[in-house]
Amino acid sequence: MVHPSDDARIDTIAVHGGERRPGPEGSLVFPIYQGTVYTVEPGTGYHDMKYIRLNSTPSQAYLHEKLATLEGAEAALATASGMAAITTTLLTLLRPGDHALVSDCLYGGTHDFLTQKAAELGWSYTFVDPRRPETWAAARRPETRLFLVETITNPMIRVARLRDVVTFARQEGLTTVIDNTFASPVNFRPLSIGFDLVMHSATKYLNGHSDLVAGCVAGSAELVDRVRHTLNLYGGSLDPHAGFLLARGLKTLAVRVRAQNHNALTLARFLAEHPKVAEVHYPGLPTHPDHEHAARLLSGFGGMASFRLTGGVAAAEALFEALRIPYVAPSLGGVESLITRPAATSHAGMSAADRERIGITDDLIRLSIGIEDPADLTDDFDAALGKV
Ligand code: PLP
Repeated sequence: MVHPSDDARIDTIAVHGGERRPGPEGSLVFPIYQGTVYTVEPGTGYHDMKYIRLNSTPSQAYLHEKLATLEGAEAALATASGMAAITTTLLTLLRPGDHALVSDCLYGGTHDFLTQKAAELGWSYTFVDPRRPETWAAARRPETRLFLVETITNPMIRVARLRDVVTFARQEGLTTVIDNTFASPVNFRPLSIGFDLVMHSATKYLNGHSDLVAGCVAGSAELVDRVRHTLNLYGGSLDPHAGFLLARGLKTLAVRVRAQNHNALTLARFLAEHPKVAEVHYPGLPTHPDHEHAARLLSGFGGMASFRLTGGVAAAEALFEALRIPYVAPSLGGVESLITRPAATSHAGMSAADRERIGITDDLIRLSIGIEDPADLTDDFDAALGKV
């Protein structure tokens, strides 16, 4: 396996990290080992037998090493979806009676998992504002075990006080877990500031082509192995075909995300100046409340933005009709731009009161910016806003 040198940049790591040299039969591309099961050496333990559900076959090991190098982790694990990564990690770290501090602006699926399943698993949790460290001590309980946050919140695009999360958790002896989907390791590597575990919906930026569902967990070999053993029991393993596509997508991660950073900033600036736009949420804009903090923490502001029009829901729907480039669709992180109203899609499972509390009004529009030419994107929005 090749580990690019410690000071290699993320572009080099994306292409070469975890690659075998020479590859099987001299191949530059690691093949798909589709076999379910492999012969067993005497004395091999259960979790080390090569079997797809045990996440131990050659294609899975290759992908794990590639993912680990991207997050600068000792080890990584691929899962069947982002939600499998999140639920399996929580099932590994929390026992009945445990309590967690969790961000009050989580991805809808994570929020729904906690609100619908935590009580029956015997866990409790307290929502905290990840941007207000002064409020966390009051929420901590003797039985608190972990602190769960997201790098950039969805869909308000706020940037959590992540260094403070690590400092607080270390003082209090809590395990820190972060969903880094929105930033991707190109814009932020949480382990480098001391997070214990980083998770992704690899369905999004890591793969980048909107053609598979996968997840990832990365961190110390000890913690990742514990999560793998849980995954082996619950069964949310990634199929080698999807793993092959994910590894292929990973090689272009850095160029894609940099183009998305650039396009998002260009479009956010354009929207912020437009008279029909009431507000824009993008941390790359100096008017964003987290701008200075984000500029210090992140290497790029990401491809996600949200905004509201002066004309409310009707204007949002008219804009969706008039746009020619973005697809009207939820999800994010692919090469094509997507536009959606979170209240009607990703956050529809949340109560209206919870949505309102964190600012997800019915007319909020979320954008996942792709890698199209930024001039074409601004022209398209200009023309469409003219019809709203
Ligand atoms: N985390 C974030 C931030 C997401 O946006 C999503 C999906 O949209 C997930 C996790 C869940 O990922 P998946 O759909 O791959 O299960």
